[in-house]
Amino acid sequence: MRIFTYDTTLRDGAQSDTVFYSKNDKLNIIRLLDSLGIDFIEVDNPVYNPYDDGFFEELKNMKLNHSRIVAFGSTVKVGVLPQNDSVLSFLSSYSDCCAIFGKAWDLHVSDVLKTTNEENLRMISESIKYLKSKGKYVFFDAEHFFDGWLSSREYALAVLEEAQNAGADEIVLCDTNGGTFPKDIEKAVVDVKRHISVRLGIHTHNDCALAVANALSAVNEGAELIQGTINGIGERCGNADLAALIANLQIKSGFDVLPEGKIRSLTGISRAIAQITNISTQGMPYISRAAFSHKAGTHADAVLKNPATFEHIDPSLIGNKRTILLSEISGKSAILPIIRRVVPDIDKNSDKVDMLLAAMKDREAHGYRYEAAQASFELLIRKMLGMYTPHFEVDLYKLINEAKLGEECKSYVFTEVRVDDQKEIAATTSDGPVHAIDEALRKALRPFFPSLDKVQLIDYKVRVMDNRSATGSTVQVLIDSTDGRDVWSTVGVSIDIIRASQEALIDSIEYKLLKDEKTSENR
Ligand SMILES: [Zn+2]
Repeated sequence: MRIFTYDTTLRDGAQSDTVFYSKNDKLNIIRLLDSLGIDFIEVDNPVYNPYDDGFFEELKNMKLNHSRIVAFGSTVKVGVLPQNDSVLSFLSSYSDCCAIFGKAWDLHVSDVLKTTNEENLRMISESIKYLKSKGKYVFFDAEHFFDGWLSSREYALAVLEEAQNAGADEIVLCDTNGGTFPKDIEKAVVDVKRHISVRLGIHTHNDCALAVANALSAVNEGAELIQGTINGIGERCGNADLAALIANLQIKSGFDVLPEGKIRSLTGISRAIAQITNISTQGMPYISRAAFSHKAGTHADAVLKNPATFEHIDPSLIGNKRTILLSEISGKSAILPIIRRVVPDIDKNSDKVDMLLAAMKDREAHGYRYEAAQASFELLIRKMLGMYTPHFEVDLYKLINEAKLGEECKSYVFTEVRVDDQKEIAATTSDGPVHAIDEALRKALRPFFPSLDKVQLIDYKVRVMDNRSATGSTVQVLIDSTDGRDVWSTVGVSIDIIRASQEALIDSIEYKLLKDEKTSENR
């Protein structure tokens, strides 16, 4: 059975207290959602937010392969006719799909709108008829439907019937406060199906950590359109996470959700959107790195013998991958898959594996931690096996920190790099020394390796290592980088934080260049 997807990352997601979109962020998110094959993408109504950044102009000219843009707004206000309503007139001006929300809970009619139940029905009916008269495809969002159904069922159903009779193409049942339980969602949807014949959608919030479960319950009882945001961002505790919902429905329940083959980009696209919205995907179901990571020695061992022992699905189905975390407690079987990325046919009992395990343990004793920095570990393997030629050398760098009393500190970096026999010099300035070093390195290397333009640092962590012998005040720097496709992590260790940072930065750049080589070989 086909389930339609409706994304509201740009509308409900923008209600999240930490998310702010620029025009380009919005356009990029739309491109990503379109490439994932999302059916409908909802965008906010500028009448609510009159700041004009040119987004709607560019949106009009945007060519999408699959998705349809949905303009969002509300029904007319109390006592207002549709032709005099600014929201409706905007809605009908630029998109052939419109979503309007209206009250389905009489408590809101009496206490918020402060009008009569009949007037609320008129507002809904006339708004939908107006949009239909303009030839629009209309979604009616029945706001607070489940709370309404639980407290005054007759009226909640009357609202839906009014919307259907006025010509709504789809009716979306909303758990706006996020407080409903799956058993009530099920009962309500069964009841609605007895009264309503147009396609039903489900829109759930996560205030009880039930948004995804509630949406699944609705689908199991006949809802055919799922609404949510990528990574579950949204007001208060967020919306249903559309990525998890899609995976649950398509991979685990056998519904037909995304177009053929698209589900393999679910992880990459969710992570790319997380970057734009500047949220961490740490620990998120399905798409995070942790989702298929195995640490303890016996788990790692078992999962390598048979992945089904500790994995609920094959991670590659959604474009994620298994990670075996390295640590003192895991043995050969943990590092073997990483070694095999470099030497695919290496034998578990080979001397080389013993040598690499010993090298790893030795470096861990000096403060390196590779479980969170597997890109550095892959580079180490290559170096130890003589399979590594650096793409560049840093011949020199000079860092000057200038601090004037009462002013911000400024860092100046001058660096000289060498690629084969060619030298390049670059200088930069920044508020912080690590940022300045990163900028200077990439500026110097850019003429040789233009793909470094796409690389961004997304996380930088410093940890002072414990006082074990010989590592007195050693610091460990961990850097996460991305090129918009993959995320990789590198580590540097030194008594000097700048040196540790530089080591991790150089590893990050080397890893990217190595990765580029590998993908061009695969073409
Ligand atoms: Zn909502």
